[in-house]
Parts: sequence; C-alpha cells; structure tokens
Amino acid sequence: MALSHLGKKGIETSFKRGLVLPRVPASTERHISSTFSKSTSGSVAFSFARYINGFGFSSPNHESFPTFTSIRCFHVSRETLARRKEDPDRQLSHRELKKQTVKTKGKFSKREKKTDKPPVEAPYVPPRLQRLAKGLAEKTVDVFEGMTLLEFSKRTGESLAVLQSILLNVGETVSSEFDAISIDVAELLAMEIGINVRRQHTTEGSQILPRPPVVTVMGHVDHGKTSLLDALRNTSVAAREAGGITQHVGAFVVGMPDSGTSITFLDTPGHAAFSEMRARGAAVTDIVVLVVAADDGVMPQTLEAIAHARSANVPIVVAINKCDKPGANPERVKNQLAAEGIELEDIGGNVQVVEVSAMKSTGLDKLEEALLLEAVDMDLKARVEGPAQAYVVEARLDKGRGPLATIIVKAGTLVSGHHVVIGSQWGRLRAIRDMAGKQTDRATPAMPVEIEGLKGLPMAGDDVIVVESEERAKMLSEGRKRKYERDRLLKAEEARVAEAEKKEAESEEGFVRVELPIIVKSDVQGTAQAVADALRTLNSPQVFVNIVHSGVGAVSHSDLERAQACGACIVAFNVKGGGSGNLSAAQASVKVFHHRVIYHLLEDIGNLIVEKAPGVSELEVAGEAEVLSIFKVLGKRRSEEDGVSIAGCKVMDGRVCRSGMMRLLRSGEVLFEGSCASLKREKQDVEQVGKGNECGLVMGEWNDFRVGDVIQCMEAVIRKPKFVSSESGAVRIEC
Ligand code: GDP
Repeated sequence: MALSHLGKKGIETSFKRGLVLPRVPASTERHISSTFSKSTSGSVAFSFARYINGFGFSSPNHESFPTFTSIRCFHVSRETLARRKEDPDRQLSHRELKKQTVKTKGKFSKREKKTDKPPVEAPYVPPRLQRLAKGLAEKTVDVFEGMTLLEFSKRTGESLAVLQSILLNVGETVSSEFDAISIDVAELLAMEIGINVRRQHTTEGSQILPRPPVVTVMGHVDHGKTSLLDALRNTSVAAREAGGITQHVGAFVVGMPDSGTSITFLDTPGHAAFSEMRARGAAVTDIVVLVVAADDGVMPQTLEAIAHARSANVPIVVAINKCDKPGANPERVKNQLAAEGIELEDIGGNVQVVEVSAMKSTGLDKLEEALLLEAVDMDLKARVEGPAQAYVVEARLDKGRGPLATIIVKAGTLVSGHHVVIGSQWGRLRAIRDMAGKQTDRATPAMPVEIEGLKGLPMAGDDVIVVESEERAKMLSEGRKRKYERDRLLKAEEARVAEAEKKEAESEEGFVRVELPIIVKSDVQGTAQAVADALRTLNSPQVFVNIVHSGVGAVSHSDLERAQACGACIVAFNVKGGGSGNLSAAQASVKVFHHRVIYHLLEDIGNLIVEKAPGVSELEVAGEAEVLSIFKVLGKRRSEEDGVSIAGCKVMDGRVCRSGMMRLLRSGEVLFEGSCASLKREKQDVEQVGKGNECGLVMGEWNDFRVGDVIQCMEAVIRKPKFVSSESGAVRIEC
C-alpha cells in the first residue's frame, strides 16, 4: 500500500482507526507534509509525517497508537537545536534514544505477516532512487535462490532501508533481514538499484548427468565454415527425420546412433555471433571447431578465431578442410598452427586435428568422434531437474505464430506451459518444438528447441529463466526493461558527451562529422545483429554509422516511414524484396540496399559513406616556379624600404594561381608562407600561369627574393576518405 495514494483523508481515517502504517519513503513524507500543510501549519504536517515513520512500520503494538488528536508538537529554533546537540550533559531526546536502539539492534522489528495474498497485488510503483551512477550500472553481483536480505545488502552495498522500501512496493513480505528472498525478487531488487546480476543456481541435491557438447564453427572467410555446417546438418537428426535438407534455425543436433550420444552445433558461423553472445554473458559454446582450408593455410581470421577461443577459454578442435583439392597441403597448415602456439596432438599436444572435405562430406565422422572425445575429456555435465536456464541463439517473427526463439537449454528442464522471462521479454511457453519441428513438452540440457508464446522478440544471447507465475514474469520483465532503458540512457548520454567532445575537436581540425542513419532488416535476429555490427566497423572520424533500428522480416511500410523521418537508408539482408515495396521506397525516396552477401553490402555502404563524407581540407602543391630574376619597383618616397620586389619566375611544374597560398623555399628550406599579392604575365594581371610560362610575382610581405629560389603554389583540396578492402575480406574506411 503506497501511502502517497491515500491522500489526506485516507491517512487521517487510517490513523484514527489505529491502523499500522508502513514506513514511508522520504518523498512520501514530503508529500504528506505538503498535503497537510494546506489545512494545518506546515510544521505540524511535517511532524505528522515523521510521526508515522516513527511508529508505523516498526511498532509491534497497534493498541499503543495514539489518536490523531493526541499529536503534540514542540518547536525549537535551529540555534537551540544546534546548541543542544553540542551539549555533552544534555539528556537524549525520545527520538534520539529510539534511533540509538535501532542502530544497536540493527534489525527490523517484526510486523504482521501478510497472508494468502499473491506476491504482486498492487500496481508496482518504482521507488525513487537517490543515486544512480555509471559505476553502479557496471557493477555485477551474484544472486541465488534463498539468499537473505542482509546478504543481498552486503553484496550490493545498498542499505536495508532502501531495499525494504522496494520490497514493500512489490508486495513482498520480509519480517527480518535474515529472511530468505527468492532469486527473482533478488534480481528485481538489483534492477531497481541499477545493478547487474548473475543468477547462480545451486546443483546441490539435484541429479547431475552428462550432457552433449555445444559446438561453434569458426575460421577464415571462404575456408568452408558454411559448407561444413551444411554437410554436418545433412547428417543431423532433423535432416534424417525431415528426409533431407532442413532450414537454418540457429542450431542442430547430430546424433550418433551407435553410442546414443549427440553433438549440438550452433548454426551461425562467424566471429561476430560468437563474441556478441559472449558479450551478453551467454557462454553457450563448449568447443570451437577451427576450420582452416588446406590449400590456403592460416589467415588473419584464423588467428582471430584462435584469439576468441582462447579468451573464452574454450578448447579447439582443428578441421583442415578442402583436403580434396589438388593443392591441399595439410602438413603446411599443421606447421603454421604449431607456429601460432596451437599444441597439436601430432606434436605431443592436446589439440585434435581432423582432415575433412565439406564438399565431398569426407572425414565428418572423424570430426564428430574428435568432438565427442573432447566432450568426454571435459566431463560436461548439467543439472537435469529443476527450473531451466537457457540462452537464445536466434529469434524471428513468424506471421502466424508470432515471436519464435531458438534456445539452447544450459541446465534444468524446460517444460511447456511454464512462464519465462527472456531478456526483457516474457511469455508463457505455448509450444516447444525440437529441431525436426516436432512438438515436445520438455527440453533437457544442450537441446536446441524453438519456443512459441513470447510477447516480444528477444535478442541472441538473452538468458531464459523460468518464473512461477505470470505476475512474476511481468514484474521481472518490466524491471529489466526499466534497467535496460536506464542503461541505454546512460550510454546514450556518455555517447552524446563523447560525440560533443569529438565534434568540438573536429571543428578545430576543420571538418564536422556527419551521420549516416541506417535501418537493418534481416531474416533472423542473429543475422540482423551481425550485419549491424559489421556496418558499425565502417564508422570513421568523418561519418558516424548510426544503426537507428534493427529488426526481423521484410521491409515494411513503417520501416519506410521511420527511414523517411530520420533520413535513413535501409539495409535489407537476406530478406525478400521487390514489387510494391520497391515502389513505395522510391516514392518515399528512401534508399533500400537488398543484399545476400555481406561483402557486397559493406562495399555499397562503404561507397555511400565515402560519398557522404565531408572530406578534410588539405593544402596540396599545385605548381612550382623558379625565380630567374628580381625587379625592384621603388615607392613614392623612393626609399629602399618603401619599394616592392617582383620575382621574375618560370613555372617548372603544375600551375601557379593568384588565389593560391605561396611558399618560398631556399635550398629546400621554407623561408616564407603567404598569399600572392600580384601575378602578371606580359604586364597583364592573370589568375593563373601554366607550366613552361614566365610570370612576375609579388608575395605578401616578402621582398627578399634571390635567383634560384623556388616558389610553390599551394591549393586547398578536399580529401575524401577511401573504402579499403583487404585480401582477408576485412573492410574499413580510411580517412
Ligand atoms: P565460409 O566463408 O567459410 O563459410 O566458406 P564457404 O562454406 O562459403 O565456402 C567457400 C567456398 O569454398 C565455396 O565455394 C565452397 O564451395 C568451397 N568449399 C568449401 N568446402 C570445400 C571443400 O571441402 N572442398 C572444396 N573443393 N571446396 C570447398
């Protein structure tokens, strides 16, 4: 019950009836104060609010409550108060005594327990928090089921009073700081005080069983990652059951009929997906398959993949691909890998190497064997019973079924009908489908499944947690949304400040950074994120690539409207286009780039960036002239100082312009820089003189020409950035 909602009358009545009133936060205290001050004196009102706080929450005895009429307030001046505080012999006031007792006790007093009421009854009103700094948003604490409020307070550094006022708002009952709180409530508390959490689930007392490994395929572009995944997918359970090639759904399982074991492959090759998932705390991958083409050897992205696997502390199994090619040289690849510090089994290390051909589907069984062996070494186990913990691998929007997410269960069992919170979305699991599209009612560890029934589209890497009720799910999802929004605003503010600083520095440098707003649409969430990340790599000091929106599905009318509103172009990757869509895009004069190959997309956007870039103004030598003779023209007073020196020159290279900046060099040393005061050819003023011609030139303040001096004419040119692509397939904008 939030006091502020009662109003003056409600408070009065409740108080007269001797009801126990909860402790009110400072803001409410002020509110009561202002409500009462309209009819009573301000000071009385304030005392009243304080009075409620003094008795309300901590008083165990209702009977001892005085009636409203017995409130007595005494006023002293600030000076008297200050003097009294300093007096060591003075007697402590009733309130001070009370404060001391509370301090020494350090506990909450008991209050009446709430009974048979659902945990969330009243609408949730977030408490107003005094502090929310950048430091807090970056802090992460571990929370677990059944932790005490005191433990939570210690871990987060937040006071018990603040935590309790939040609990009160969410309708939770905690009679002492030693009471256990549920993991969801702990997370909600953390969200409200702006701290990140890691949910820790105890495996104590539950059955721990071996689980299949989850594998990610990585390697250099064109070394055959996609082909290898395709070949493996064709041997997968889903393909066998579906009688052929299945569609790309984020993950698939390859089963070993003899041993009954299986391997789960993540279906998104590439490093962006891997690091994106890891950045969001989703450590799903157990083993990395490093694909190296036997005819190409170790390349930059091979090294990048090794670095990713090492930093994630994930073991590698090397698959030397394209062994069917005539130019294949697996031994060379092994030597190169050894030189990079990969301790291959052949040389006494523990990294397994398998020679395969994705095209001919040879060596796949050996690769699967190697992966299972690695899994046995790793002793992969998971809790099978209890609430599921899972991660989103991919999410998409289906016209008929709504938001769908492919998830991999990490621990526990996901059961159909459960309420889940995924990232900041929530839902009730209407259906769980395995990778063959068959409906199932549960999913166990390492099992990729597609879930249906979500209210919104989650992101790859989001965690999936099971909660006990719809109210909990809504509450947690709201809490997370608020936290994400606060984090987003904080980040946006930081980015804004950084951008302002950058702009300031840039305007000093002579150019202003322009923005290229982009809307990304793709077939699946994971790809949309990967495309957005790839586009961001084209950020340059001159053009800021701003991904204003990224989503799943074809380019819609609202995308066009959004693009038109913010002057954005639309990148449609792997989505169907054409027809009326193209027409409306043309009508809305929005540029839409349809692509299926990431490199072609980056090339197009790279060229657009170059076109949009303001460029940097630079001085360039437009021409060079040599001084052949010097003429002096005396001034009116005919004194030496009053005269002007004219350099008789011959243009040796390029052209000399009247509007250009002149630079005088003697023996290679620059002696003077200034503007051109006069440029004449055959006594005629001219704007420019070309190569091989003679001219007379007067330079600003400079009179001391010598025969043999070189005069350079400098012209300002606008230098645009360049779109550069390297052999490895990496692209960048070079300014
Ligand atoms: P990714 O960029 O690493 O995903 O590479 P892809 O799977 O797209 O393969 C790049 C090229 O290599 C394609 O033209 C494939 O047909 C070819 N390729 C892939 N695996 C093999 C293989 O085992 N043998 C041969 N000869 N070609 C292959």
